[in-house]
Amino acid sequence: TAPTRDRLRIAIQKSGRLADPARSLLASCGLSWRESRDRLFCFGETLPVDLLLVRDDDIPGLIADGVCDLGVVGRNVLTETGLAREAAGAQPVFREWRALGFGQCRLALAVPDAWTWEGAQQLAGKRIATSYPGLVRQWLATQGIEAETVLLSGSVEIAPRLGQAEAICDLVSSGATLAANQLKPVETILESEAVLAGPIAEFDPVRAGLADLLMRRLDGALKVRKSKLLMFQAQREALARLLPLLPDAETPTVMRLDDGDGLALQALCHGAVTWQRLEELKRAGARGLMVLPIEGMLA
Ligand code: ATP
Ligand code: MG
Repeated sequence: TAPTRDRLRIAIQKSGRLADPARSLLASCGLSWRESRDRLFCFGETLPVDLLLVRDDDIPGLIADGVCDLGVVGRNVLTETGLAREAAGAQPVFREWRALGFGQCRLALAVPDAWTWEGAQQLAGKRIATSYPGLVRQWLATQGIEAETVLLSGSVEIAPRLGQAEAICDLVSSGATLAANQLKPVETILESEAVLAGPIAEFDPVRAGLADLLMRRLDGALKVRKSKLLMFQAQREALARLLPLLPDAETPTVMRLDDGDGLALQALCHGAVTWQRLEELKRAGARGLMVLPIEGMLA
């Protein structure tokens, strides 16, 4: 059992893809830190919430061991570590608390360009190079396929050329690395993004209170990130055409302008406000469209 502590400790990646977005998300929850010189540990100033800066692979284990309370890590790493622990007979101790909306990528199965892909059965008896053997084996089992996994910690995409494997399973975002190695993605094994990981068990009361406070702020911050304030003017007769174009908006504020039938509208939109959407609004009669970022929100 974890020792009782009166501060919350969050593990984030020290450097890499998730490091900066994780830190700025936590900062947007009102946390700030005094950096220690070696920068492995950052002492929380505004709240008793400290950061531990580590390699992403270590984060699930740090939570499992109770060294850290929470962590920001890719779903790919969290799930793979969970499967490895399960295979070793350990009880599940951590889980995904929240999806954080950054670090998106997918774990994809890729085969040589020359293959005509007809389905998973093509992998029967083949070797698949990957850094995610647990996830690959789980997927193979759901497909009812017997294939071998070859564990490689990096440069997985060159394995087919080196004759180590016929196929690979690796993280993909643009697909450029695969293409450069004459491979093509054919199946998605896992859709991943950065997640807040935490224990399955409850915290002691002090840390539970801190975690609750943090989660409420985090939910606000995540909602704000996706939300925009849309402002525009229109004639009263256009209102019936404009409102259906704002399905994700909270009830818009409608103000009457001095010049008769003119209206000014404010709508808080929770979905993406794309150029296409602005153009549709304009065609429906909106004038002077403005999209504003939201700085903070407390429901
Ligand atoms: P560390 O030194 O902390 O072990 P790393 O090299 O393992 O770093 P990064 O390459 O920074 O880690 O990737 C961290 C996470 O970012 C991945 O586990 C994954 O969840 C996510 N990610 C998003 N896009 C990609 C991508 N194109 N390739 C790899 N990871 C990606
Ligand atoms: Mg790593």
